[in-house]
Amino acid sequence: MEINNENKNWKKVLNSEEYSILRERGTERPFTGEYLHNKKTGTYVCRACSNELFSSSTKYDSGSGWPSFYKAIKKSNIIKKPDKRYGLERIEAVCAKCGSHLGHIFDDGPKPSGKRFCINSLALKFKEKNNGDHKD
Ligand code: FE
Repeated sequence: MEINNENKNWKKVLNSEEYSILRERGTERPFTGEYLHNKKTGTYVCRACSNELFSSSTKYDSGSGWPSFYKAIKKSNIIKKPDKRYGLERIEAVCAKCGSHLGHIFDDGPKPSGKRFCINSLALKFKEKNNGDHKD
């Protein structure tokens, strides 16, 4: 998927909190995000571009204070990028469609993936699955 983040006025489509996370690679304060305890069934998409990112079936409670998933809905939908800011060696999770920052990926997740996608609620939008409903 091609990253397309040029010529887009993100400040018009995102509020200032969303902008600071998604476009300035910020981090929301732990235990504050709206999706931390969301246990509903559905799909989490990128708040900036609606690219599908995670299924609710891969969400788990990591205790970190951020929504955590053990795998992406589709590998190619999330780009893994080395992030050496703040003297740390981390792997950044980036939306493959719009280039927005989502969070980070760590190696302490549950088996079999062993991955923990540690994602800001402000980078996500939750689409609840409605049985028998025709959606989109
Ligand atoms: Fe996106």
